Amino acid sequence: MKFSDYNISPLIKSQLEKLGFKKPTDIQFKAIKPILEGEDVLAIAQTGTGKTGSFVIPILHKLVAKTHKNYKGVRCLVMVPTRELAKQNAAVFREIGSETSIKTFGLFGGVEQEQQIRTLNNGIDVLVSTPGRMFDLISQGHLDISQLEFLVLDEADLMLDMGFLKDIQDVLKHIPKKRQTLFFSATITKKIKTLAYTLVRDAIRIQISPQNPVAENIDHAVVMVEMDDKRFFLENVLKEYDENKFVVFARTKVRVERIVAAMERVGIKSEALHGGIEQKDRFVILDRFRSGENRVLITTDVAARGIDIPSIDYVVNYDVPDNPENYVHRCGRCGRGNKRGQAISFCSKEEKPLLEAIEEYTGEDIEHYEMSLAEYKDVLKDTDDGSYDWKKLIEEANKEDGSFDEWKDK
Ligand code: AMP
Repeated sequence: MKFSDYNISPLIKSQLEKLGFKKPTDIQFKAIKPILEGEDVLAIAQTGTGKTGSFVIPILHKLVAKTHKNYKGVRCLVMVPTRELAKQNAAVFREIGSETSIKTFGLFGGVEQEQQIRTLNNGIDVLVSTPGRMFDLISQGHLDISQLEFLVLDEADLMLDMGFLKDIQDVLKHIPKKRQTLFFSATITKKIKTLAYTLVRDAIRIQISPQNPVAENIDHAVVMVEMDDKRFFLENVLKEYDENKFVVFARTKVRVERIVAAMERVGIKSEALHGGIEQKDRFVILDRFRSGENRVLITTDVAARGIDIPSIDYVVNYDVPDNPENYVHRCGRCGRGNKRGQAISFCSKEEKPLLEAIEEYTGEDIEHYEMSLAEYKDVLKDTDDGSYDWKKLIEEANKEDGSFDEWKDK
């Protein structure tokens, strides 16, 4: 089925065509029709599957098809856990709805509220918001959601992880009981189910690839690398694929900054993104990455969740994530929509149990890139980091306990 076969507004269809969206992705195929028919939906789908479009397309159509005269308030509220996601989802509404008169606004904290209040006062149809700032504005009387028609919860599992349960419950006090509710979560747990069933009514349940949460159009590989050698392997791939866009994940802010510095020493430009960087700077960094001005983004899990930047070719797990779900989210940054992506994980011997936990969670073994000792040493030798005497370090490690060769032989 193609989008042209759908019974949706021509204003939306022509925009989908311009964006190059010809046929729906799996989640879109399953969700758009019931949403158009007014059903509540409970969907388990990860980012990268096209899930944003699966609610944006039918909601826009319904908002366009039926106007709501004497009401100036918000008609659709999308609750999201992070500011980045608020910005991003709002952008998708605006992009797909650019030929319609539907007005969308992404609302979040960390920025001045005066401008936001002015925008809201001008009339907004779709509000995409993080919970905190939204409640501030409701309590100050700047935000009217009393006749809301659509409530969407996006990344509901992360909302719970971030402690937004009470906020979600509080929203219910401000909106009509008669509404359409769409609930999206990347994972399903008992807690999520309980929350979902307090929100949706006789929902259509949709689950995308439950056995294989890792997006299908991503190739996965793991390379066994000593912790201290990871930067040379990163340098190696970044130089080999110097036309490609990379997101590199490390465990902590400090490690992110160290990696950026290490890459700078070898002449590779990259940028850091983590929770220690101010919100407004984070947006600028993301924009530079989106536009291609910077092609290597080095980040932590917290800062990266939900980021949808098209055309990311590689995800590098510089550190193996200690939570298997994060592996899925990280890798989902590439291979988005109908594109192919490649995920590479650098795994040290200390991280092997984490890798096994990921394989158990995804139900698939990740292919190991087998490397001879000579090849491994070549990577270290090829570095442009003049401050590094690789030969001496390897000799020292071997002199102490033979650990380097022994580890490589495993
Ligand atoms: P999402 O899972 O919503 O974050 O979307 C992932 C990516 O897929 C985004 O970059 C979208 O622009 C892209 N996308 C969504 N729907 C389609 C479609 N039907 N055809 C091609 N690309 C799509």
